[in-house]
Amino acid sequence: MSVAYEPTGVPALNLRAQYQSIRDEIEPVVRQVLESQGFVMGPEVSHLEAEIAEYCGAAHAVGCASGTDALLLPLMAIDLGPDDEVITSPYTFFATGGSIWRTGARPVFVDIEPDTYNIDPARIEAAITPRTKAIIPIHLYGQTADMDPIREIADRHGLMVLEDAAQAIGAAYQGRRAGTLGTVAAFSFYPSKNLGGFGDGGMIATDDPVLARRMARLRVHGMEPKYHHHEVGLNSRLDALQAAVLRVKLRHLDDWTTARREVADRYRSLFASHGLDEMVGLPIERPGNFHVYNQFVIRVPGPIRDELRQHLTDRKIGTEVYYPIPLHLQTCFSSLGYQYGDFPQSEAAARETVALPIYPELSEAEQRLVVGAMHQFLHDRAYPSLFTDRAA
Ligand SMILES: *Cc1c(COP(=O)(O)O)cnc(C)c1O
Repeated sequence: MSVAYEPTGVPALNLRAQYQSIRDEIEPVVRQVLESQGFVMGPEVSHLEAEIAEYCGAAHAVGCASGTDALLLPLMAIDLGPDDEVITSPYTFFATGGSIWRTGARPVFVDIEPDTYNIDPARIEAAITPRTKAIIPIHLYGQTADMDPIREIADRHGLMVLEDAAQAIGAAYQGRRAGTLGTVAAFSFYPSKNLGGFGDGGMIATDDPVLARRMARLRVHGMEPKYHHHEVGLNSRLDALQAAVLRVKLRHLDDWTTARREVADRYRSLFASHGLDEMVGLPIERPGNFHVYNQFVIRVPGPIRDELRQHLTDRKIGTEVYYPIPLHLQTCFSSLGYQYGDFPQSEAAARETVALPIYPELSEAEQRLVVGAMHQFLHDRAYPSLFTDRAA
């Protein structure tokens, strides 16, 4: 008889389990790159670009050094500058706003929907001015933003739509994958993303051949051909080692996505069977969306969120808050003139959300430990009164 494995803690992220499962495939391709001594760009990068384009259903893909650069390069390619504005939501990783700022343009924030945490399309139109050049919807946590109304508004005003798909490779909207839902899309290969490299990396996808060529030139100092510089770009080349690793991992991505979705379903059943589904806000998947669960983010009333995290930390259960400070309240953006109260949905999400461990390899026993510890906290400490009716 086998002895059931009893976990004594659950890390927020566990990359080792995944590496161990593909080590035998990774080592030969890494060795090949080492033997070639060709480390920057080259055939591995070109192959990865073709494979990612095909995976998304986009005509072109351009590799670059990070997800941040994958946001910056398309903005540079439309010659964004100090007279321009770009609309996005403030409840995101810093890079979304930072890349707009880097071009000299002004980030203009629009609040999120409280249930998906993505930009609220109904609020976009009011933020458009004659200076607006682009909209950056973020597919937060692995679920696409509501792209039909966003595209409709963008088309009517002649705006570029740049998908921040850093957390959403493989996600789909009405049957179409992230990467083909706007003008251009940015992916990140940061190790914690669904397709993560062994370091930094990024990719831009688009159907527009002119835009693709311009971004490919901008990532190599605006150079084309060698030593002829048409404009000042970046050094944002992708490493061959990263591309080789990512090509191996891409073959597993759909299986890992399936596993992430199973983990999410199992969380939902466990929350329900503990009677917690009423008092914890669980992630929703909108009809027509295919969520890839880069994160499984739940919501509890503000005052107890940090106490709950401490309770879980004390039991060696890792959690994270994505993101505790919305961009409109970041010190570096204070000159934009926003203040607390401007985006109540983003501010509430920043106070109330917590990300639980999720990765393809997460076991049911580990999930039971997480939900059991939450039950203990919510039952014994935070909401005992809510349970008295049910206890019988
Ligand atoms: C990770 C991330 C980025 C930036 O990607 P890097 O590869 O870390 O530069 C941008 N936007 C979002 C929403 C992200 O999660």
